[in-house]
Amino acid sequence: MILVTGGAGYIGSHFIKKYLDAYPNETVVTVDDFSEGHREAVSYSSRIHVEQANMGNIEAMVALLKHYSVRTVVHFAASCYVGESQQNPAKYFQNNCVHTLNLFEAMARCDVREVVFSSTCATYGNPQYLPMDEVHPQLPINVYGSTKLMTEQALRAYSIAQGWSYVALRYFNASGADESGLIGELHEPETHLIPLVLQAAQGKRNAIQIYGNDYDTPDGTCIRDYIHVNDLARAHISAIDYLRQHPGGEVFNLGTTTGSSVLEVIDVCEQVTGLTIPRAFAPRRPGDPPVLVANADKAERLLGWKTAYDLPQIVQSAWRWEQGARYPSSKTASATGSPRQI
Ligand code: UDP
Repeated sequence: MILVTGGAGYIGSHFIKKYLDAYPNETVVTVDDFSEGHREAVSYSSRIHVEQANMGNIEAMVALLKHYSVRTVVHFAASCYVGESQQNPAKYFQNNCVHTLNLFEAMARCDVREVVFSSTCATYGNPQYLPMDEVHPQLPINVYGSTKLMTEQALRAYSIAQGWSYVALRYFNASGADESGLIGELHEPETHLIPLVLQAAQGKRNAIQIYGNDYDTPDGTCIRDYIHVNDLARAHISAIDYLRQHPGGEVFNLGTTTGSSVLEVIDVCEQVTGLTIPRAFAPRRPGDPPVLVANADKAERLLGWKTAYDLPQIVQSAWRWEQGARYPSSKTASATGSPRQI
């Protein structure tokens, strides 16, 4: 069986859904401490075994890995806000590095040696050339990126020293929502651009704050490579197959190779919603590189993977989610049932 850490989170929940769709006879187990994740994101199917625990709890993880005879860990659980990581580095080193090393210790004790890891384009830092391929220097300029780079390095060390097989997937900007309406993006607080723009469109926020309009980009705002969360999810399924067939370690960028500025994203949101979106310029956000755009040729070549969604389709799916079946807004209000505590 596969174990998914952080399966109640945004990307983890989309991966689980795609995995269950791809393998109708399989079940998965997810471990989530529900500090950020939503129970609704994993409660729609009896094929998801939900275990409430922190993946940094070695004894709990050993018990779980044994109980479910886990072969492969797909590791999403992490703190993931660039801005917060600058303000509270300790939280990021603790959650993303220390807890992950504890998870690896539990895996080592159970002889589980296969990992698909959620890494990030934030490990690259400021672009030295564009689009960025996997051999681009990794010089992160924010704490979040540093913690993910450290985990990549730990995986490489486990692979060399202990024969583990892993694939690290460097996501560019995950966005959009599954068409089912069952799952989507809801961070509390929300910090990501597309949901914030769509909430401004609905009048739930006064205006979208644009962090910096003096970058060295054509319109002065930051450029990112927005990729649909289901495109990311599918890549993980290919990554599991890949690492089982190719022992050792590999890293892949996951992006669309198309960059969009903050102002361009707002324009697309206006087109999709048909609404005027109030906006205001604000200072730069510490830790933001001006441009991040992927070269994803390697994933296409070796994983046989390609993106299916462009930015208008991403925004369309996010808009349906924002208007519709979104989880109840507070995690406490959303608590239904109580997964087994271990
Ligand atoms: N951004 C912005 N206003 C916001 C949130 C984000 O201008 O309220 C910008 C941010 O500075 C970055 C881009 O939008 O250039 C994407 O940010 P997001 O937080 O969505 O993802 P990140 O790139 O940090 O992973």
